[in-house]
Amino acid sequence: MFFQQDVETMSRKDLEDLQLRKLKYMVEYCYNRVPFYHDRLGKAGITSGDKIKTLSDIQYIPYTTKDDIRDQYPFGLLAVPMKEIVRIHASSGTTGKPTVGCYTKEDLDMWSDVVARLAIAAGARPEDIFQIAFGYGLFTGALGLHYGLEKVGCTIVPASSGNTAKQLMMFRDFGVTGLVATPSYALYLGECLREEGYPREAYSLRLGLLGSEGCTPEMRSRIEESLGLVATDNYGMTELIGPGVSGECHLRCGMHFAEDHFLPEIINRETGERAEEGESGELVVTTLDRWGMPVLRYRTKDITKITYEPCACGRTHARMAKPMGRTDDMLIIKGVNVFPSQIESALVGMEGIGPHYQLVVRRRNFMDQLEVKVELVSSELLESYGALEILRGRVHDKLKSVLGLETKVTLVEPKSLERFQGKARRVLDLRNQPEE
Ligand code: ZN
Repeated sequence: MFFQQDVETMSRKDLEDLQLRKLKYMVEYCYNRVPFYHDRLGKAGITSGDKIKTLSDIQYIPYTTKDDIRDQYPFGLLAVPMKEIVRIHASSGTTGKPTVGCYTKEDLDMWSDVVARLAIAAGARPEDIFQIAFGYGLFTGALGLHYGLEKVGCTIVPASSGNTAKQLMMFRDFGVTGLVATPSYALYLGECLREEGYPREAYSLRLGLLGSEGCTPEMRSRIEESLGLVATDNYGMTELIGPGVSGECHLRCGMHFAEDHFLPEIINRETGERAEEGESGELVVTTLDRWGMPVLRYRTKDITKITYEPCACGRTHARMAKPMGRTDDMLIIKGVNVFPSQIESALVGMEGIGPHYQLVVRRRNFMDQLEVKVELVSSELLESYGALEILRGRVHDKLKSVLGLETKVTLVEPKSLERFQGKARRVLDLRNQPEE
């Protein structure tokens, strides 16, 4: 089943014609309406849409970075008068000002279309009852999924995040079939569900649309097992629109890009040159018809790769691999690149330890040190020093083989690490702090 079958199954040739037409228009639109782009494009000699003759001419357009967006805070990138804006979202900036997204009526309509597309591709149906356990508010996740799923015709339970016992009660009482949550919260909900002790039949959950943070395949199977559902991933960000930029179909072999609205490229993040097809690198995205706040060649900092092979589901839109991690999340420890997702993959599924972990990076005598705190499944093990040491050794050796790096492994009591109801914060980098 499709939401917009004509577009979703378009031939590559027709899709590229459509993208080129939209790109030319968008370049001219930005040049004429956004002073920031007028200046940038002017300097690059791109003073009209006609300067773009083929899709690959996009390479002459300068990149837009997160810093550019911050510098234009809050409304410097608006392409329409404020009165045409009907909604403002913002992503929580961990440092400084948040990133603002402004939407016209048409933008909201396009946004809910692309979310509806990914929901249906994942298996959502009008008869589904979806509980949205993302925090509502400025964050794009909750309202993005909310309106997209409404467009599918699903019943929405706007639970927001938190109050876990009530979340589980609504699962049971309302016959909830679909869950929208961050992977970390879904994991926590699964843990609590098991503890509440109701039989499996008390729940009707079957589909999870997880997002807003990465999820390794190992973590995902843990979530699926504990909640009794099939989980799919989707991708997006406030700078581009919110969730809906790409999403997995039920075959789960990459996230279909909404290519008629978002034009993806992969570049080498060091040189800024375009990568060959199938090569991994940083994802760069141009919005092809976001009218309130368009972005040209936005550097997402996500490392991924793209395939243009048609999918067995019938969709022709390109598929991107799960991002290996944001370049922002990447830790450089003793010169070795470490993504938290690699550690998570190594840990989840190991016997005796739970899926929750925390990474603490310190600098001692000018040397980086990575401590990996892992929860034990049962506190019984704490009573046997020998058994504890064997397990610690196993975790240490596995991490060493995966990361090629010495780590300090600390096994901690069950449930002693923080649980997250939104995005997980699992990395504590203390390197810029005075030594303890
Ligand atoms: Zn597919």
